Amino acid sequence: MRMNAEQYEESLRKLNLNVYMFGKKVENVVDDPIIRPSMNAVAATYEFSLKPEYEDLLTARSHLTGKTINRFCHIHQNTDDLIKKTKMGRLMGSLTGCCFQRCVGMDALNALSMTTFDIDAKHGTRYYERFKDYLCHVQEKDLTCDGAMTDPKGDRSLPPHKQPDPDMFLHVVEERPDGILVQGAKAHQTGAVNSHEIIVMPTIAMREEDADYAVSFALPSDADGITYIMGRQSCDTRKLEKGQLDRGNRIYGGHEALVVFDRVFVPWERVFMFKEYEFAGQLVEQFASYHRQSYACKAGVGDVLIGATQIAAEYNGAQKASHIKDKIIEMNHLNETLFCGSIACAAQGHREPSGTYLVNTLLANVCKQNVTRFPYEIARLAQDIAGGLMVTLPSEEDLRSEEVGPLMKKYFKGNSEVSTEDRMKILRLIENLTLGTAAVGYLTESMHGAGSPQAQRIMIARQTNMEAKKEVAKKLCGITPG
Ligand SMILES: Cc1cc2nc3c(=O)[nH]c(=O)nc-3n(C[C@H](O)[C@H](O)[C@H](O)COP(=O)(O)OP(=O)(O)OC[C@H]3O[C@@H](n4cnc5c(N)ncnc54)[C@H](O)[C@@H]3O)c2cc1C
Repeated sequence: MRMNAEQYEESLRKLNLNVYMFGKKVENVVDDPIIRPSMNAVAATYEFSLKPEYEDLLTARSHLTGKTINRFCHIHQNTDDLIKKTKMGRLMGSLTGCCFQRCVGMDALNALSMTTFDIDAKHGTRYYERFKDYLCHVQEKDLTCDGAMTDPKGDRSLPPHKQPDPDMFLHVVEERPDGILVQGAKAHQTGAVNSHEIIVMPTIAMREEDADYAVSFALPSDADGITYIMGRQSCDTRKLEKGQLDRGNRIYGGHEALVVFDRVFVPWERVFMFKEYEFAGQLVEQFASYHRQSYACKAGVGDVLIGATQIAAEYNGAQKASHIKDKIIEMNHLNETLFCGSIACAAQGHREPSGTYLVNTLLANVCKQNVTRFPYEIARLAQDIAGGLMVTLPSEEDLRSEEVGPLMKKYFKGNSEVSTEDRMKILRLIENLTLGTAAVGYLTESMHGAGSPQAQRIMIARQTNMEAKKEVAKKLCGITPG
């Protein structure tokens, strides 16, 4: 069954999540004004998948059941699927102007479809069958999954087993006939409270001493013992204000949480890796490669920012200036380069033994490395073109005030054919994307999400065939083997 946006919202209401924000328990997560925009963004992945014009990108045929499913629940069966995933990410970013949160679970499902198969091939275990049963459940119910990889990590120089506090990496604390108990936390979890399921994976490659930390599993997001502590975002309390103008993006947003597991029980049928430490690195790398491809979404958010910047220039009356035109060209150039990287790693994907298609991992890392930089440059150019009013603008309440509202309307007028209020709206959207709640997704998530820049540089160094490059250079200039 594919859900529509209303059904998705209703399904979330049935969850009994233990969520905290601003020091208080959130009793009604779905209707909380601060969380609501992030729920709206995930709901958009349901809503738009049912529109005929988006169906080709946002749905797929399940390789397990043959049924039409939401692409966010799909396992990539060929490079066309991978390319459609890239295009879907850009489309959703451009429709919502924020992080729509559902890609991380899709990437976790796809990575597990390969790693569970490979663990079984080595150890004779039955993880892949378990995983397929779980996948059928996710596809059948059209569930949103949180992909939970990042541990708090404590002292970054120490491996899990050497941390003074053993909970700095999530680990197994008890093994029972019917399942395991786990303890620890996952940090920065995108869309966690908008998800039906949480899929946990290890965060780094591990050795034998860390075997207790080499664990992967899936649980309903409201399983006993799980607590969510919502992240604080710049300008978040604007969502509590009566007026809408100062929010910038009135409908959508993204939101992260710290997810704490306090001796949480996981039944064996939901365990996909249990102490096979030598596969932790593979799972991390494959998940990270998919997730680095997923950052095509930032090109979609970039589309919104570029559009907003062009409008701001027009409202200012500066759009014909040659340097403005050139800066807009530069923004588009950078934005399309982001898209190129994601399309390239998808087009160069290959089939893994399980049958799942994996992106080209070198190109996925190159793609994400660009993502750690270009949105910042695009944002810089947007702020250049928008002008200082983007950050010195008084509030909507001042605009509505009888005393000072008329002064604002007079002095903040740009192009005489445009209302001051519309000018304020577009500047607030640019502020939202480059400094406000959406900047979490557009900028800092671009930097650290799917791994900080250095993580990609390590992978680029590892995957570059340096010997082949040296060999051809020697051959061409006549250096003979000595
Ligand atoms: C908005 C946002 C959304 C996210 N969503 C998710 C999600 O849905 N699921 C998920 O699992 N994760 C998510 N992440 C987490 C993301 O993967 C991590 O932020 C990233 O892996 C970096 O980890 P960290 O934030 O703990 O930074 P740190 O590890 O503290 O890194 C900070 C700096 O220290 C460097 N550093 C760290 N360790 C070492 C070391 N051992 N040696 C040398 N240098 C080191 C890093 O390269 C970096 O420059 C999200 C992050 C953000 C910001």
